[in-house]
Amino acid sequence: MREIPGWRHLYSGKVRDLYEPASPHPRGDVLLVVASDRISAFDWVLPTEIPGKGEVLTALSLWWFDQVRDIVPNHTIEAEVPEVVRGRAMVVERLDMFPVECVARGYLTGSGLQEYRETGTVCGIELPPGLVDGSQLETPIFTPTTKAPQGEHDAAIDFDAVIEKVGREDAEALRDLTLAVYYRAHTIAAHRGILLADTKFEFGRGASGGVVLGDEVLTPDSSRFWPADEWEPGHAQPSFDKQFVRDWLISPESGWDRKSGDAPPGLPPEIVEKTRARYLEAYDRLVGG
Ligand code: ATP
Ligand code: MG
Repeated sequence: MREIPGWRHLYSGKVRDLYEPASPHPRGDVLLVVASDRISAFDWVLPTEIPGKGEVLTALSLWWFDQVRDIVPNHTIEAEVPEVVRGRAMVVERLDMFPVECVARGYLTGSGLQEYRETGTVCGIELPPGLVDGSQLETPIFTPTTKAPQGEHDAAIDFDAVIEKVGREDAEALRDLTLAVYYRAHTIAAHRGILLADTKFEFGRGASGGVVLGDEVLTPDSSRFWPADEWEPGHAQPSFDKQFVRDWLISPESGWDRKSGDAPPGLPPEIVEKTRARYLEAYDRLVGG
């Protein structure tokens, strides 16, 4: 773990490292969120990093916070970011996080598709028959999950379960904000040739008492971005981020057996380069567009 002068390491997820101030901070109860260049696939952190990924995802997240600022306040605070992590970190207000991952889906794929195939519903929401992998939903839906402890999988829950966890008023606020931010982001991305298939938000309660948008937002790590011109329901869509990584890992070339339980191998340089280019392209299309 990187040493950051003035900050104490608190926690590391698969991709991000959290720090708290070593001594009282002028802006109050804050955290430093550092995005590393680590990349995960199939729930493994790979032994190879993607140079510049942390910077791209931080810049993208900050840009999106601005695009939706009129819908919901966010946890970012204007404060100096330490030199050693400048560009890949943000200072944020420490929130009391709601124990729910707030997912919005405008298209059916992944775990949502799996649940639909088994039950015809996603998180208790009934969907029309005949939908396939990549189908656009008539209206985007709120499909929350639990926040599982590290190493465990988040589980889909229905809206009543969210009410049980946080109360009706907050549950409704989380749902409405999730869908409003998704709708805005989907519209912006669509104009730039990217379909925002689904995305995950985390909200918390700030010192002021209101609901605040936290974590990272609308990055390829928390969302599915699809190139709009290649969208074709009926099979898995090419994605904007880890497609090359996933394809290579499951190809015979990697020599890795996903079911073996062994850690995946390091990535060859051309896969690293293609993946890096993909992240940069997503950023350029969205922010530059
Ligand atoms: P995973 O690797 O599966 O994503 P993770 O979510 O625990 O695991 P990170 O996403 O890297 O790992 O860590 C970010 C953590 O910080 C999350 O637990 C998130 O809920 C929390 N978090 C994000 N924003 C804030 C905030 N403003 N205040 C307090 N905690 C926050
Ligand atoms: Mg996370």
